Amino acid sequence: MIRFEGVSKHFAGAPGPAVDRLDLTIPEGTTCVLIGPSGCGKSTTLRLVNRLIEPDAGRITLGGHDVAAVDPIALRRGIGYVLQGIGLFPHRSVARNVATVPELLGWPKTRIAARVDAMLDLVGLDPALYRDRRPDALSGGQRQRVGVARALAADPPVILMDEPFGAVDPVARGRLQAEIGTILKRLSKTVLIVTHDIDEAMLMGDRVVLMRAGRVVQADAPQALLAAPADPFVASFVGEDRALRRLALLTVSETAEPGTAADAPEIADTATLRDALSMMLAGGRTRLAVAGPAGPHVVTLDAVRRAGAVGKREA
Ligand code: ADP
Ligand code: MG
Repeated sequence: MIRFEGVSKHFAGAPGPAVDRLDLTIPEGTTCVLIGPSGCGKSTTLRLVNRLIEPDAGRITLGGHDVAAVDPIALRRGIGYVLQGIGLFPHRSVARNVATVPELLGWPKTRIAARVDAMLDLVGLDPALYRDRRPDALSGGQRQRVGVARALAADPPVILMDEPFGAVDPVARGRLQAEIGTILKRLSKTVLIVTHDIDEAMLMGDRVVLMRAGRVVQADAPQALLAAPADPFVASFVGEDRALRRLALLTVSETAEPGTAADAPEIADTATLRDALSMMLAGGRTRLAVAGPAGPHVVTLDAVRRAGAVGKREA
């Protein structure tokens, strides 16, 4: 668990605080995404956790231990840190990059080699093909995969990610976000991610925290944030197309009702309601047949419309 208690940071010469009396708890094994306009204090918040920046006031604890009492170098070895683009050592092979922390911790060579291969496998890079390459012989997406493999190598319970997919092209980005999100969840890591990509926040966050001027404006589950923005700032930030974003987070199985739709196109119950809506629009239909283990079901345009309704607090 990561906990911020009344944490503030005011950089010398700045007109206001970068982080202003922040209270935030990230429970064990969950992913929290910080989002907000440029300069609102997201990266500063992240860097306070691994003591790249020291607070003026307040306390940060990891698993109940005050980070101020831990030697910063030891602290950082126990925290995975993923940065946009830059983070990899350009003159070292992929394997040596991934091995960084295990080497610092003095693991035996055979254990390190096995761990490197396991981590590359985990992030979808064939070790035989990639372990000896240099970072400049990789695509942006592959480099970020290596960055994640390196952050996970010594199995730290806490992972910090600052705009981890910012340098990845938009096509590869969506897949990377989904894959890495699944891996972090499966490993039960406690994760704090900074992004300005609202879709990334919605996809990866158990909780999304919208910041402005160093303060939390709203912290909520992705669906709740989309359904009930606390004020016009949040609403404008999550965007006018938030109904579509919300539909992309819901599956057909949650909205399907028993029934049959003769001749209607069929959609999988695992598809999103956004997919269902596109299929309806493309085929000029108001009902689709649902393929799944639950027997004959349909999903209707009315149901999709209700699911996408925004502006009201969910019960
Ligand atoms: P974000 O990541 O949300 O874009 P940052 O946390 O990087 O924002 O920055 C918050 C504010 O603190 C900004 O006004 C920024 O200019 C300032 N700031 C960040 N780091 C430093 C620093 N090392 N020295 C002085 N000011 C800084
Ligand atoms: Mg930043």
